Amino acid sequence: MQIEIDKKSGFCFGVVKAIEATDEMLEKEGKIYSLGQIVHNKEEINRLEDKGMVTINHHEFSNLKKKTILFRAHGESPESYITAKKNGHKVIDATCPVVLKLQQRVKQACDRMEKVNGQLVIFGKAGHAEVIGLMGQTHGKGILVEGMHDLDKLDYSRPIETFSQTTMNVDKIKEMISEIKKRINDPSLFKTNNTTCRQVSDRFAHLRSFAKKFDVIVFVGGKNSSNSKMLYEECKRNNPQSYFISNPEELKKEWFNDSVEKVGICGGTSTPFWLMENVAKTIPEL
Ligand code: SF4
Repeated sequence: MQIEIDKKSGFCFGVVKAIEATDEMLEKEGKIYSLGQIVHNKEEINRLEDKGMVTINHHEFSNLKKKTILFRAHGESPESYITAKKNGHKVIDATCPVVLKLQQRVKQACDRMEKVNGQLVIFGKAGHAEVIGLMGQTHGKGILVEGMHDLDKLDYSRPIETFSQTTMNVDKIKEMISEIKKRINDPSLFKTNNTTCRQVSDRFAHLRSFAKKFDVIVFVGGKNSSNSKMLYEECKRNNPQSYFISNPEELKKEWFNDSVEKVGICGGTSTPFWLMENVAKTIPEL
């Protein structure tokens, strides 16, 4: 049986940067507090927590004083920077450069929209860390749109400018944009910005062809990682013999019957490469 790990799968550069910063600080200081889950992958979190990382929520963060705090790749809202300063924390800011740039663009657009009585729209998932950071740039004036049902919130007689969460599904965004275009009174009042991250969007096309090359696909990803779920669904659409697992223990012997000659292993932007390697090693043992 031939087993191949997809070389393009695994951490995106934003996550690599955050993990490297954490490993480095753990070597130096022995303990570091991560504000929220550093990556949506339990196995990688366990590895870092064994080395001394502690994951905290925003409530715990505001009660702690003078600690070393990691701001992860998803980015934080301006309030978190104010709290960190007030509580004397040392901040390791691992906000992904792509997210940082997007935060700045959202802030500038918000000011522009304010001047023309316009609406600043963010396409994204409520409660997602990156979205909270982006909405934080709008001083509560941004309008979060999760899906078509939220489009009724908009006033189509006033200007609208849209941005999206970097990991949002591109097809879903296209659908919403075309609906706004239909509803808006004057097309010149509408501006849209494509802010999905190519580290994610490029993988859809790549996995589409990768999935077709194998008899069986094993997709490795965190259960709470939305980009892993979306990428897995793309594999499944192109190869019905695709299975989602979070660790090697979830592999099932019956997936690899005698007719299976080629197995492809892939994962999301939050899947560590070492975990895919462990899966590759375990399959022959089954
Ligand atoms: S998916 Fe893109 S924006 Fe998000 S952390 Fe990775 S590189 Fe940065």
